[in-house]
Amino acid sequence: MTGAPEEIERDFDLSRLTTVRAGGRAAMFARAGTEERLVELLAFAAREGARVGVVGSGSNLLVSDDGFNGLALKLDGDLARIQRDGDRLLCGAGVRLPSAAAKSAGWGLSGLEFGVNIPGTVGGAVRMNANAYGGELARTLDWVTICTASGTGRRTPDELGFSYRRSNLRDGEVVARAQFSLEPADPAAVKATLAGMRTKRREAQPSGIKTFGSTFKNPDDPRAEGRSSGQLLDAAGCRGLRVGGASFSEKHANFVDNDGTATTADILALMAEGRRRVHELTGVVLEPEVQVLGEVEWPVGWDLEEDG
Ligand SMILES: Cc1cc2nc3c(=O)[nH]c(=O)nc-3n(C[C@H](O)[C@H](O)[C@H](O)COP(=O)(O)OP(=O)(O)OC[C@H]3O[C@@H](n4cnc5c(N)ncnc54)[C@H](O)[C@@H]3O)c2cc1C
Repeated sequence: MTGAPEEIERDFDLSRLTTVRAGGRAAMFARAGTEERLVELLAFAAREGARVGVVGSGSNLLVSDDGFNGLALKLDGDLARIQRDGDRLLCGAGVRLPSAAAKSAGWGLSGLEFGVNIPGTVGGAVRMNANAYGGELARTLDWVTICTASGTGRRTPDELGFSYRRSNLRDGEVVARAQFSLEPADPAAVKATLAGMRTKRREAQPSGIKTFGSTFKNPDDPRAEGRSSGQLLDAAGCRGLRVGGASFSEKHANFVDNDGTATTADILALMAEGRRRVHELTGVVLEPEVQVLGEVEWPVGWDLEEDG
């Protein structure tokens, strides 16, 4: 390929950059440690007509078994560092939320506690509007810088179109940095909050499994009668349901558990069966929370008729 920036790797195994450890390879892969390098890589992809995929911690990502026929990017270097400026935190978008939460606690800063159990990066959290225990990302976020093929710009939370597990970021728009304004607090108190949240999480969700967290979003449908996706899957008999190397966790039915042999096709087939069963039982159509990278064929039966 002409004019390719140095250090682009070819035929790169993406599954190991995801927490569920499934899927294929990227045609091209590169790391960006600065905004300049990121823009250069995005401009290269635009010139080549190549699609761009960003991988944060891969904690909400399912890669096609056929891989991704484009340029996959990961942030590192300066774009994975945390700096403190008084009560403000400047984070590279590649910083992991649990690290940001723990560092802030040590500095006696409150506001990012909700991130302690979300194993994603700041960039992935902005794209997905990640949340837990009612802590809202937008409450402390001042702005993000966003790199595209044509340069770098800034967006405030009001300009990010946040709604449930969504932002208005499009493919090719990469969050590079974020600034948070936090509240001074007693470090011991913030650390105690984090410890409490970790314990609560351990009780409610499986740990140490290969998963991407919530498979489906919680439905906004009166037929769900206030139940979460996990509760609906459970009611539909999906707890422990298995397809190939993938099963719905015995501890939390909305979590897929890869036993180490699952393909993405196994996971998609499992998701389709869970979705079918919930629909049959309640009429609710569950929508995936997990993001797919690359072209996948949804199993036969994925398209369900809405009946009301
Ligand atoms: C055990 C477990 C528990 C979880 N608990 C929670 C929870 O409590 N709350 C919650 O909200 N989520 C939770 N998740 C899901 C996941 O951690 C979040 O969605 C997280 O925000 C994803 O971040 P990531 O960096 O891993 O993104 P990835 O999974 O790598 O990517 C997700 C999407 O974000 C895009 N993206 C990543 N980085 C950038 C960037 N810099 N710029 C633009 N787009 C980007 C990707 O292209 C992709 O579309 C959990 C996941 C696991 C495995």
